[in-house]
Amino acid sequence: MKDYIDKFAFIKLKTMDDHFFRFCARAGCGKLIPPYKNGNTHYCSDECYDENKRIAAAEAGRKRAHQLILVRNDDTLDELFALYQSKFYISAKLLIDRGFNWDIHSGETVINGLVAKNLIRYGYTLFTNQTVQLWKL
Ligand SMILES: [Zn+2]
Repeated sequence: MKDYIDKFAFIKLKTMDDHFFRFCARAGCGKLIPPYKNGNTHYCSDECYDENKRIAAAEAGRKRAHQLILVRNDDTLDELFALYQSKFYISAKLLIDRGFNWDIHSGETVINGLVAKNLIRYGYTLFTNQTVQLWKL
């Protein structure tokens, strides 16, 4: 009989362990997920679930906007590269006049010892004298 109880207690503890020690997946919450919640849920409450969904949607919107600007910037460099290639230092004004967004790029590469900001097909180096050299990536 004692063996049976010990075994039962162990199973019960294991079950409690599985169900009690799961934490809410919403960033900044950190609460335990109540044991009565569905085993598949990652959130402690409907509020956390909704909040996480809202954050994910906003993040997806930001990513889409970032991608659109990246494409537009890349199209601008496509147009200018057809005219100037990498052979000329061109005025940054040419990019500014075309609504170039200097804050958006997809990474950096070192080309001929110069740090270039990457877009999609093209990259550029902005020099302190406000001239730009274009690169085909
Ligand atoms: Zn939560």
